Amino acid sequence: MSSSSSTPRVGIIGAGIIGLSVAYELAVRRGVRVTVQDVRPPGRGASWAAAGMLAPAFEAAAEPGVHPRLFELCLEGAALWPEFASELAARTGASVGLDETASLAVALDDAEAARLARIAGTLALKGIAHDGLTGDQMRAVEPALSAEVRGGLELSTDFRVHNRLTVTALLKALTDSPKATFANGPAPLRSVGGKLVLAGHDTIVVAAGWESASVKVEENGQLYSLVNWETALDEIDCHGGQMLSVKAGEGAPVRVVRAGNIYLVPRRGEVVIGATMERDRVIDAPEADVIDALRLAGGALCPGLADAPVVESWAGVRPGTPDHAPFIGPTSTPGLFVAAGHYRNGILLAPVSARIIADQILGISAGDLAAAFSPHRAFAATA
Ligand SMILES: Cc1cc2nc3c(=O)[nH]c(=O)nc-3n(C[C@H](O)[C@H](O)[C@H](O)COP(=O)(O)OP(=O)(O)OC[C@H]3O[C@@H](n4cnc5c(N)ncnc54)[C@H](O)[C@@H]3O)c2cc1C
Repeated sequence: MSSSSSTPRVGIIGAGIIGLSVAYELAVRRGVRVTVQDVRPPGRGASWAAAGMLAPAFEAAAEPGVHPRLFELCLEGAALWPEFASELAARTGASVGLDETASLAVALDDAEAARLARIAGTLALKGIAHDGLTGDQMRAVEPALSAEVRGGLELSTDFRVHNRLTVTALLKALTDSPKATFANGPAPLRSVGGKLVLAGHDTIVVAAGWESASVKVEENGQLYSLVNWETALDEIDCHGGQMLSVKAGEGAPVRVVRAGNIYLVPRRGEVVIGATMERDRVIDAPEADVIDALRLAGGALCPGLADAPVVESWAGVRPGTPDHAPFIGPTSTPGLFVAAGHYRNGILLAPVSARIIADQILGISAGDLAAAFSPHRAFAATA
């Protein structure tokens, strides 16, 4: 359906950080009318469960099997964060907890040392500043670290934000905007004569995280899944993650610390300890033994955390793709765009994904980097 004004009216399906950021970019920054639709309370999916690391180097510089330009997209995403955070804070009157202090990536064993060497190699090739530190130098920078830490990298590319504060700020900015409307429940998507229709909207963005393929479409009184209109959505897979937070007392780290799959993220009087990576786990409840194991691993990295009281434990679902990079862009169905599959980097990539989708919807060239994340790309590798 066409809108009466010259700008489109956009229906966004999914109110996680991706859908909310797309809505923010369109409604608040560019004056486009949007409806944000969610089947649950907004902002409580993976975007609430995340740790808030903005980590281009650790996540994408040297990960095997990732999209060849994911690191570039992640760097672009990181570059947008300071302005995104300060603008959101100015609009809502609340900080989103952006902290640009360099993260530490440490090695406790040979495998981790080898991974860090690969990251350092990529950074060196690209001329990106990073510092290799010995174990003693690491402990001078972050005294909470265990004596077992052999050394590692100080990564100025990698920093952090408070993802829950960000989601809350996005919701407030959108609630305050006359251009944005929220709707609860399934989007009334219909297929009419082979055309996908969301009444009152010209354009649809599916941003329903790991559930994007199963968004429902009504056709002749029957419900079908959206994947029938865009088969690329079938590639979105699920990676469950469990984690916990503990009270930050004496001996707690003040920097983000990464060691293989374990990370520690200081966050407003707490330290988040994460996380598991569990293919196909979509249960949103944590398991006590898994949380205990993470807590032990956190204590091994920073002994001061060993007896810290647990504040909270939780689980979420990362939406993945075969090359661990998001689908961003138009689909083969006219008027349907996708912004989903952000895997471990949805917080980092929210502002850049929103900018790309908004440009594409408004007919502004989003550039060749954006085009590389089309849902119709070929997958070079699987890992
Ligand atoms: C444990 C864990 C730690 C993480 N840590 C980090 C990190 O440190 N840094 C980082 O960058 N990323 C991190 N991530 C990844 C990041 O959280 C995700 O990539 C990101 O949140 C995905 O955002 P999203 O908006 O696509 O999905 P979600 O936040 O899951 O939002 C999707 C929304 O769609 C809604 N929805 C589903 N079906 C429908 C439907 N049919 N109709 C309408 N709405 C629907 C859901 O209810 C939900 O609100 C982590 C993830 C997990 C689980």
